[in-house]
Amino acid sequence: MIEHHNSYCFATMEAASPWALETYEAHGGYYAWRKILETRPPRREVVEQVKASGLRGRGGAGFPTGLKWSFMPDVEESYLVCNADESEPGTCKDRDILRFNPHALIEGMAIGCYAIGATHGYIYLREEFCEEPHERLLTAMEEAYAQGLLGENIRDSGITVELRDTLGAGAYICGEETALLESLEGKKGLPRFKPPFPASYGLWGKPTSVNNVESLALVPAIVRDGVEQFTQVGTEKSPGTKCFSVSGHVARPGNHELPLGTPFADLLELCGGVWNNRRLKAVIPGGSSVPVLPASAMEGLTMDFESIEAAGSLLGSGAVIVMDDTTDMVRALQRISRFYFHESCGQCTPCREGTGWLYRVLTRIVEGQGEPRDLEVLDTVPARIDGHTICALGAAAAWPVQSFLRHFREEFEHYIEHGRSLVTPA
Ligand code: SF4
Repeated sequence: MIEHHNSYCFATMEAASPWALETYEAHGGYYAWRKILETRPPRREVVEQVKASGLRGRGGAGFPTGLKWSFMPDVEESYLVCNADESEPGTCKDRDILRFNPHALIEGMAIGCYAIGATHGYIYLREEFCEEPHERLLTAMEEAYAQGLLGENIRDSGITVELRDTLGAGAYICGEETALLESLEGKKGLPRFKPPFPASYGLWGKPTSVNNVESLALVPAIVRDGVEQFTQVGTEKSPGTKCFSVSGHVARPGNHELPLGTPFADLLELCGGVWNNRRLKAVIPGGSSVPVLPASAMEGLTMDFESIEAAGSLLGSGAVIVMDDTTDMVRALQRISRFYFHESCGQCTPCREGTGWLYRVLTRIVEGQGEPRDLEVLDTVPARIDGHTICALGAAAAWPVQSFLRHFREEFEHYIEHGRSLVTPA
């Protein structure tokens, strides 16, 4: 069951047709965009406003959105690309923004195009969104075009914003921004070497800003209500709200949009607590690629970028994976490692070979064939991947292994010594 709380991204949820244009407009939708069309402020003014809001990218890296936009040069041809290739295991918030509030993304993209000086924006959706999320987005785009909110020389303002959608083919790596751009150009989705960064060499070699669905969906509220209101919720370094996708061993998994800085205990309570009256064992707080934290680290922890980093992990995409005390951490890590091995694009040797090594060694341990030297492999291989690859998938494969071993080493040792799990199955 998916639950939502009224806020920005899920502001329309209580309505009969949350995705409809009239619903969105009844909630203040397109006010900001209409005002821009009427007043045509200097584009840098909009960038400065988003910068002052402190909005940090909601896709995983947490890079400030306004700062990213400020890198965009004044050129004739540039692009805004929305990364809707939501593939990080545990993450399902962008899907619901597309399903229930697609106009927030469209308005955010219109404002974003204006702010960076682009006339064309692309929305790159993961292949699995081809039904409801994609259909709702297409309908919303049609509505926006029909109402004269998108198009060429909109309402004789001299402003042109054309949006196009495109579906990927289901590769996790296409969520990496430069692989996404390659895929959008019709090529194999292989990450590019950086620099140059997309702000100077992006789509078809032109300056491009790539932003996440949730980041863009928050922009209309910032421009409409002002920076002060947006920064009233959240923390000083993590202002605004965040959509948390809570999955795993909770009574009621779902998406919740809450102020950043909300205590983890409150989020857990909102999800009905740990299921079946079991005890909390561990949490992956930001999608499967970020370091796991033991239950003790979650005590008193608030859900914001800086607090989770101080605790030894990352807020990432806000996908909170909860594990109860019956979880076999070795098997959980084996499953995660299989994913990154499968999704490695194969360009870099440390990632291509290293992810395979990690998965095979973990499988051997889980099958009761582990040897003491396997722990050495798990200790050393991740460090040889992390920081030695073209893109962040290498780190995404390394961090879980390092953190699972740091916090649950005795489970790995027990498997190797006894050929079976230390944990009693549920
Ligand atoms: Fe491909 Fe892995 Fe290298 Fe990224 S780190 S470019 S996924 S091989």
